[in-house]
Amino acid sequence: MLHSMILVAGLQQKPGPDGEWAEYEPTGYAAIVCPCGLSTGFIEKADAAEQYREHAQENAPTGSVRIHPETGPASAVLNGMLGEITRD
Ligand SMILES: [Zn+2]
Repeated sequence: MLHSMILVAGLQQKPGPDGEWAEYEPTGYAAIVCPCGLSTGFIEKADAAEQYREHAQENAPTGSVRIHPETGPASAVLNGMLGEITRD
């Protein structure tokens, strides 16, 4: 079984300093999806972190988690969230 988790963070746009919709902030919700069939749906970030740790422990000693989207303005927010979620 292939395990390769993807973290999808809930993001919402907020107006930038110039009033344009250019910035992203986390909604506090995240989803973990894995090709094995795991799909948490959007749940609170802390719960997503727990699901991630459980799944990694049970199934994926070499497991890595990727983020979606990987690039663009949202990726910085995602990387921050990923750091929080994967921190021990
Ligand atoms: Zn899996």
